[in-house]
Amino acid sequence: MFKPSSTVGSFVWVKDPEEAWLDGEVIEVNRDDIKVQCTSGKTFVVKVSDTHPKDTEVPPSGVTDMTTLAYLHEPGVLQNLKSRYHIDEIYTYTGDILIAVNPFKQLANLYNDHMVAHYKGAPFGSLMPHPFAVADAAYRQMINEGVSQSILVSGESGAGKTETAKTLMKYLAKMGGRAVKDLSSRRSVEDQVLESNPVLEAFGNAKTVRNNNSSRFGKFVEIQFDQRGRISGAAIKTYLLERSRVCQVSDSERNYHCFYMLCAAPPEDIRKLKLEDPTTYRYLNQSRCIKLEGMDDSKEYIKTREAMGIVGISLEEQEAIFRVLAAILHLGNIEFTNGEETDSSVPKDNKSLKIAAELFMCDEQALEDSLCKRVMVTPEETISRCLDPESAAFSRDALAKFVYARLFDWIVNKINNSIGQDPDSKHMIGVLDIYGFESFKTNSFEQFCINLTNEKLQHHFNEHVLKMEQDEYKKEEIEWNHIEFPDNREVLELIEKKPGGIIALLDEACMFPRSTHETFSQKLYETLKTNKHFSKPKLARTDFTVCHYAGDVTYQTQQFLEKNKDYVVAEHQALLGASRCTFIAGLFPSLVEDASKQTKFSSVASQFKQQLALLMERLSTTEPRYIRCVKPNNLLKPSIFENQNVLQQLRCGGMMEAIEICRAGYPTRKHFDEFLDRFSVLASSTLDKWFDSLSSVQSLQETSGGSWTQGIPDWKVEGSPHGWADG
Ligand code: ADP
Ligand code: MG
Repeated sequence: MFKPSSTVGSFVWVKDPEEAWLDGEVIEVNRDDIKVQCTSGKTFVVKVSDTHPKDTEVPPSGVTDMTTLAYLHEPGVLQNLKSRYHIDEIYTYTGDILIAVNPFKQLANLYNDHMVAHYKGAPFGSLMPHPFAVADAAYRQMINEGVSQSILVSGESGAGKTETAKTLMKYLAKMGGRAVKDLSSRRSVEDQVLESNPVLEAFGNAKTVRNNNSSRFGKFVEIQFDQRGRISGAAIKTYLLERSRVCQVSDSERNYHCFYMLCAAPPEDIRKLKLEDPTTYRYLNQSRCIKLEGMDDSKEYIKTREAMGIVGISLEEQEAIFRVLAAILHLGNIEFTNGEETDSSVPKDNKSLKIAAELFMCDEQALEDSLCKRVMVTPEETISRCLDPESAAFSRDALAKFVYARLFDWIVNKINNSIGQDPDSKHMIGVLDIYGFESFKTNSFEQFCINLTNEKLQHHFNEHVLKMEQDEYKKEEIEWNHIEFPDNREVLELIEKKPGGIIALLDEACMFPRSTHETFSQKLYETLKTNKHFSKPKLARTDFTVCHYAGDVTYQTQQFLEKNKDYVVAEHQALLGASRCTFIAGLFPSLVEDASKQTKFSSVASQFKQQLALLMERLSTTEPRYIRCVKPNNLLKPSIFENQNVLQQLRCGGMMEAIEICRAGYPTRKHFDEFLDRFSVLASSTLDKWFDSLSSVQSLQETSGGSWTQGIPDWKVEGSPHGWADG
């Protein structure tokens, strides 16, 4: 790697614990050490090897494509994003990858129809970086070359993935929409695709500490096109909805938006569903946060109902859906106390039980029994066993989660059915909006699954970016050495290998009735102790650490077994399957009669692994494009750009690796003209002004004997614009 010439007067970047990097001027040189006077006022004495050269030619407003920076290193990349961010240029390219920094404020006129028209058909890279440009490139390539496309949007919670995905969908809907509205009364496919967003957000988004409108599920929307490039269908796939939120909300967070909308419904609905103030309900009042700034729940209720209509959910179905939500709230208020028999339980009072049963349209006694008793089937007899109050409360919450998850799946299915799939569609554009890498103070099963997703996507990213780079060199007939790049195959194996991987060991543990998280952890330690991506933290007894591509994450195993078991309590299934409401009964089609099936263990992690495998397979048939969203601060406020925070995200998103790949190859790309502008002075006498720029560069190269390359890492002179910003 190129080191700055350690001369007085040169400009460098110096590491700083707070700001990550500070820029300054070298004011003294002593052997390996240099003294740097930073712009911020601080002076440092540092080793030359700990500094990076500063590109002094970058305009104050930064460059639109990072690959045009003379130096592709952390501080350069960071500085570029930062200076752009401060002038509301939130989008920047790194080659074909779009980096989007969340502005946390509305930027005027950035996504309007005028902009859509502006980007339509414009060559990629010819205009300011924008998600429209990415969507347009995808759409063009699909039309012109007949290749399906995918746009992978990633980033941590609150980074702007969902907003970006919606921006992409809006553009695609405009491109693929019909100029004249269908005369039939049915809504157009593109309207339905767009309106699926507010519906899914109402039921799948919630306020968290990281994002006021955080999607608690992953989503892949496949938009199908016909021969003429018109949208002809769509398929929405969702991943891993967070179920625990239905009954457990941490303070300052909220439950799913739909519950608060429901409580703010018009009075007649409130009366019908016997609702009271949201603070009355245990599932909502565990957190003190009920109102969300900037969100009017009663307006949202109306809007959501409208959107539900557009995506084909009938009025009756909508009523049933909100009745189920109300039933869940009442269900949550059922409390239990000791019954007459030892270790038995009864509801404290019957008010909530009665209303919940009424709304579920099931028998009150049956509801009570399904919460307070378990039926055990042995070969000899069927015994009814009582549950103590604690277990009954657990059973109640399990029922609430189960109902909610089924409801969510029903909604997704319904949307898919009413939008409709186009069986003849040859091409599609998929937009992936899925949770980014997570590493918290405590990490549980959810983080484990989320990080597996990210390992998979990273693997896909590495392979693809590297391949593109190689193709580029081939096209330009440039000699180069094979690039070593980070490969995370081994981590994937550690997690997914069957038998012996973490998921396989977890499934095994779940199948043994006597397993505990302790025995599971022991088994992990024994089996994986030699794996270099796995370790046991020194002081921990049941935690384990995985060395992910984005950093080490230590997982707490306490709830792994419980969360991995995807079982349905047979009593719950039977109860609601017998509901007098056909909608509710329909959510719980009776299980296969075979009794053995009912007890068969089904693993959440394995199902998820399978879903991911299908997703990856689907993605592999498409031409991928990447958008990396960055969250500039954790306060969710505009105009604050935290260096360390952003750097961490760039690392986690594999951006530093992507840049590394560019650097391992040829980091600097200049058009011939630019190159001549800068270096023709070296041999101006030999340059014939009638030469074209290519011949001039060749001539310059011969006459100057390559002396122009001194002090510059590796040069690649770009012959034709391939999306790099024109100089
Ligand atoms: P993620 O899906 O990555 O968790 P979101 O897309 O929900 O994040 O964005 C979080 C919030 O940030 C949004 O609710 C919005 O307030 C703000 N935001 C994100 N992207 C933009 C944007 N391009 N313009 C304005 N605000 C944005
Ligand atoms: Mg989101």
